[in-house]
Amino acid sequence: MIYLDNNSTTQIDDDVLKAMQPYLNQLYGNAASRTHKIGWDANDAIKIARERISDLINARPDEIIFTSGSTEGINFIIKGVYDQYSEKGNHIITVKTEHKAVLDVCTYLETKGADVTYLKVDKYGLIDLEELKKAITAKTVLISVMYANNETGVIQEIKEIGNIARKNNVFFMTDATQAIGKIPVDVVEDNIDMLTLSAHKLYGPKGVGAVYIKRQFPKIKITPLLHGGGHEKGYRSGTLNVAGIVGLGKACEMGSKNISIFNNGILNLRNELEKSILTIDSVSLNGDEQKRLPTTVNICVDGVDAEALIIKMRDKFAIASGSACTSAEVLPSHVIMAMHDNKEKAYSSIRISLGKNTNGVDITNFSKLLKENIVSIKSII
Ligand code: PLP
Repeated sequence: MIYLDNNSTTQIDDDVLKAMQPYLNQLYGNAASRTHKIGWDANDAIKIARERISDLINARPDEIIFTSGSTEGINFIIKGVYDQYSEKGNHIITVKTEHKAVLDVCTYLETKGADVTYLKVDKYGLIDLEELKKAITAKTVLISVMYANNETGVIQEIKEIGNIARKNNVFFMTDATQAIGKIPVDVVEDNIDMLTLSAHKLYGPKGVGAVYIKRQFPKIKITPLLHGGGHEKGYRSGTLNVAGIVGLGKACEMGSKNISIFNNGILNLRNELEKSILTIDSVSLNGDEQKRLPTTVNICVDGVDAEALIIKMRDKFAIASGSACTSAEVLPSHVIMAMHDNKEKAYSSIRISLGKNTNGVDITNFSKLLKENIVSIKSII
């Protein structure tokens, strides 16, 4: 089985696992225990992890708050900012192609009185910066735009968006879950006020992540997520997941090396894959050709049901469609719908996401099998 679903999750790296293991049994201290060495050791490990995470995104260690992952980070930031700034206004700007974690939080806040603008994207998956500027009002408290899309890999113009937000005195948060560890992210350069990331997308463990909250002027007020012992500057109380955080830290330390792998060897493989499959009649690329993660290819195979194609290949290759299964029906991907407004295209789209260990043989075999199966499905139709 060749795994080409790395945007969904990644395998823990051996070095990450090695770094974590002592903290599961030998170094089992509570990082909040101040009275003995077992606690200090855990606290030291947390400190190193915080430094490694902040180094990867050019933040300061005291700007990192640990979470259980990006869904939690997104909930914390959007709800927490909305709650604190409701006197200034109730307007949030986001994008139709955001992850459900962002969209569902916004829908929830609408029931509490929020006014949310969902920016549209063009057929390449990009927002129009002029439309963003026009959407800002005196009541806008937050702009939330993801760094890179999980389905298409499309990278938004984050630096420009950050600039627009800053000029208009609006906070800017980005869900950088898919970007971190794949492309360089610099919170200072990109004018980012808040950011979320998740360890399991960058060869770390599941159930741990972090948010970055800028601490330089102006100080951002966010309502705490969990009240309790005052951990994590009072934002998120609860005993820290030391082994998980150590794993996240190690994964971030390896991030720069991985970014180089992704933007050289893996990018070449992705280009090879595209060259091969985009020549197939009826196959087209979803997303901007250039502004895209080096790992992600999302294609539409006109006239072919993506689920049927995936089922035909799933003994040999793990790939994904953007469709969401509810108990009642399979819903078309909201991302592809936002780009093309075409249900057939959405039901015919598949995502191939390469990992740092994907090799040329995998890609050659995948292209071959994909072509064979498209021909086979089309011959039946
Ligand atoms: N945001 C994006 C862009 C994602 O791809 C994901 C994971 O699929 C999430 C948020 C949620 O992350 P987590 O699994 O850490 O809750």
